[in-house]
Amino acid sequence: MGNYPCPCCGYIVFEFGPGSEDVCPICCWQDVTGDVIYPTERSAASDGPSLMQCQKDYIEIGVCNPRLEAGRRPSSDDVRDPDWFPITPDMVDCLPKRSTLGPESWPDEYLRRYYWKKDYFFKTQG
Ligand SMILES: [Zn+2]
Repeated sequence: MGNYPCPCCGYIVFEFGPGSEDVCPICCWQDVTGDVIYPTERSAASDGPSLMQCQKDYIEIGVCNPRLEAGRRPSSDDVRDPDWFPITPDMVDCLPKRSTLGPESWPDEYLRRYYWKKDYFFKTQG
């Protein structure tokens, strides 16, 4: 059990906030800041799939990317962020894009970077 949720599977597994580059032991998603901020765009770090695609793959095949080996199954000790939910297609237009929002706009407070939190930074932008 960690302090921060994995944005891909929702389980609270990460010791550090977004950008730690740690890998989720459950879904195998790698925690890269830009991938949380731009969840519908291809991963900046690996040119891999977007967070949104990784969520779909985790739900369908149990790992965030078919090219990776599966992580472990969640146990009864694992806690899922109760607010977390996967991105749905109708949300795509409402989430930040690299072309319109640069790193200078990213909030310092980690919890505001999560699209499923009620004080998500992008909702409150002008
Ligand atoms: Zn995960």
